[in-house]
Amino acid sequence: MKLGVLQERRPGETRVALVPAQVPLAANPKTGLEVLVEPGAGLHAGFSDAEYAEKGATIAADRAQVLAQADVLLCVRLPEDSETLVALNGSKTLIGMADPLGNPQLIADLAGRGLRVFALELIPRITRAQNMDVLSSMATVSGYKAVLLAANHLTRMFPMLMTAAGTIPPAKVLVLGAGVAGLQALATARRLGAVTMGYDVRIAAREQVESLGAKFVELDLKADDAEGAGGYAKQLDQSFYDRQRQLLGRVIAECDVVISTAAVPGSKSPLLIDEAAVQGMKSGSVIVDLAAERGGNCALTIPDRTIQAHSITILGPTNLPASVPTHASQLYSRNLVNFITHLSKLGLLGGNSTETDDQIARETLACDRGEVQSVPVRHK
Ligand code: NAD
Repeated sequence: MKLGVLQERRPGETRVALVPAQVPLAANPKTGLEVLVEPGAGLHAGFSDAEYAEKGATIAADRAQVLAQADVLLCVRLPEDSETLVALNGSKTLIGMADPLGNPQLIADLAGRGLRVFALELIPRITRAQNMDVLSSMATVSGYKAVLLAANHLTRMFPMLMTAAGTIPPAKVLVLGAGVAGLQALATARRLGAVTMGYDVRIAAREQVESLGAKFVELDLKADDAEGAGGYAKQLDQSFYDRQRQLLGRVIAECDVVISTAAVPGSKSPLLIDEAAVQGMKSGSVIVDLAAERGGNCALTIPDRTIQAHSITILGPTNLPASVPTHASQLYSRNLVNFITHLSKLGLLGGNSTETDDQIARETLACDRGEVQSVPVRHK
């Protein structure tokens, strides 16, 4: 069976699904799997065709050959362009990220083409699946990079400096949403010398925030049942969000940097920073809104733009992992190899049937046999 590695076509995407070092893990005589790589697939991420070939992959003549000959296509983002899709027949399996809850129509379209799709965002957040969890890997990269962007745009410095020319106080960094990206942002900001604060609606987040040397921001606000299935936050009612915004405004006014990461899976991001809160910040402060792709946590965020409003810089990056493509690809690739190894052991990689009791395979299967199989995607 052939695994195909495609060059990503989405604008700005620099990652590659499989890195050369992991070719021998994906393909070896024991698994009977071979790897076929589109020429130049890894170039933006820093991996040459020669490195893939050295690790045992075959470099195809062109993209068309990969699309025609590979049984399983490994992607970062599933292809959406018609040129690629028309070249895929219904016997193919696609594995990659597809934003299945944000863009269920793509899954319906791929189902209509008879393709089998495993959408990696659907991997359950359970201990057994941790080494396949691409959302966590990519959120780690985003949290780290968000802090570097903030430091770069801030008109002040992060660390406290005591010099002969006077003392500079440390920057105050507030992280809203202490999930995977938020915790990484707190850790990174502290390493740069900032005083850090974290806030989340989930009660469990307090201990994690404090374990990183940050202060947990306590609001006079009750959300006893803010945590839903899988450890994610739940959608809360509008009056909660209104009060939350109002209370957060006072905390935000004290901060030099706000990194916002608050998300509720499958829903629009909660609005945590209104225009008044932006106006209340000191001139030269920075907001990095990692929720930009889902509408943003800040009312003024524009996805993929850096804007100035009320002398505050607001960034809305939607794909920070692509700005660190070598390591982001390395982490993604390892998650992907763990996932295909898991499917292969279950006999589900490219086989005729996807019938299984295995929770990981079952929940990650977005579509098969012409139908959307994922229950949350079907209900979108
Ligand atoms: P996410 O990206 O869905 O959300 C980011 C954060 O925003 C979450 O912590 C969420 O609670 C928070 N949030 C939502 N609404 C908010 C609001 N109104 N105000 C403030 N914060 C708000 O989450 P994630 O980073 O993907 O992870 C969510 C949880 O899952 C975390 O507890 C994480 O530790 C857990 N997790 C478990 C596993 C595992 O066991 N395998 C793997 C990864 C993550």
